[in-house]
Amino acid sequence: MRAVEALRDRGYEGKIHLIGDEPHLPYDRPPLSKQILAGDWEPDRVALLKPDNSEDLDVEWHLGERATGLDLGKRSLTFGSGKELDFEGLIIATGARCRSLPLAENLEGIYTLRGIDDALAIRSEFEAKPQRVVVVGAGFIGAEVAATARQRGLEVSMVEAAPVPFERVLGPEMGEVTADVHRDHGVDVRTGVAVEAFRGGSRVEQVLLADGTVIETDVVIVGIGVTPNTEWLEGSGLEFDNGVLCDETCLAAPGVVAAGDVARWPNQRFGETMRVEHWDNAVEQGIYAAHRLLAGDQKVDPYTPTPWFWTDQFDRKIQLAGRTRPDDEVRVVTGSVEERRFAAAYGRNGRLVGILGFNRPRHVMQYKQMITDGVSWDDAMAYAEQQSA
Ligand code: NAP
Repeated sequence: MRAVEALRDRGYEGKIHLIGDEPHLPYDRPPLSKQILAGDWEPDRVALLKPDNSEDLDVEWHLGERATGLDLGKRSLTFGSGKELDFEGLIIATGARCRSLPLAENLEGIYTLRGIDDALAIRSEFEAKPQRVVVVGAGFIGAEVAATARQRGLEVSMVEAAPVPFERVLGPEMGEVTADVHRDHGVDVRTGVAVEAFRGGSRVEQVLLADGTVIETDVVIVGIGVTPNTEWLEGSGLEFDNGVLCDETCLAAPGVVAAGDVARWPNQRFGETMRVEHWDNAVEQGIYAAHRLLAGDQKVDPYTPTPWFWTDQFDRKIQLAGRTRPDDEVRVVTGSVEERRFAAAYGRNGRLVGILGFNRPRHVMQYKQMITDGVSWDDAMAYAEQQSA
């Protein structure tokens, strides 16, 4: 959707086809696990197309249709129905889908959350007044769903296979702080333990953990990560590496770009080939991909964003900018961890590489700019000291 808007903004007047296998017009996903699930918003609030921009875009919609093949030589797409569509330029933005646990096959009451239909189905379950919810996975979906369910008054257990939630992103110390935020609000957080089985009649009634514990439940939400949707491109000649492999300008092949959760590209700012699964990148890379496509053979600057995301859990807005690793040096630069209101900087190889904020949006944006500017760790720490003096 952002790519389509950017094509029109930059004056592209040709035909645009937008193909999506969901039956819905494009919508924003961040509120699904928060305001939609909480019952605070209705689905019309997340629509990306408003009456005032839908006609300007002049798009031919192919909703509820799945692209199943790409012929790069012929520059054509195949659909599940067998239909074909020729193109001059292609933007691959097929995103990712939820991983599922192979244990859940025949029981009702077990969900993943990716789209609006998933969110509404889980919301109906919550409105049916269940007592207990088990969330499997303490990543973004797990933590946000657990917070929303708890705020709706449900008993919530959150089960995470890793020893600390968000450890790969935030490191062990700060990952533990997110677990503590959940514990503060009465979530039963269980880490370092896998789910062994779901049990029940037609509906799920119990979750059996690998340590032998049995948790009684009415509903289960599984949030254990995603898989990029690339299977439909197999045999096309594109390259894959847990995503569609692109060059530093998001080009996957001549006339073909990729953007969003599905794209992997070398981000020269960080000297790292990355795939980013967050909202801000979906927006920025979508816009960039459109620009790259229209540039054709002209030279364009590489795509070098400083990634960032936010996640709302209870009354905390947690934001992280940069590229952090679990073994980075971490230093609190302002505020108090105990009060859950602070910012912590991440450093590696003498450089500032990340900033984490708990209800500290201004600091996150300040340090994000410093990361983009390539500020050294020492200079960032000197700045922090000067600010707190
Ligand atoms: P995620 O953030 O990758 O987290 C998945 C979590 O589940 C990880 O902690 C993972 O641990 C754990 N896990 C994996 N296998 C498990 C198992 N068998 N049992 C228990 N835990 C297990 O993915 P997600 O939470 O499912 O979110 C889906 C997508 O939506 C992601 O792309 C995410 O970025 C996006 N999203 C973003 C936001 C936001 O930016 N605010 C909000 C919602 C969703 P390991 O790390 O050890 O594998």
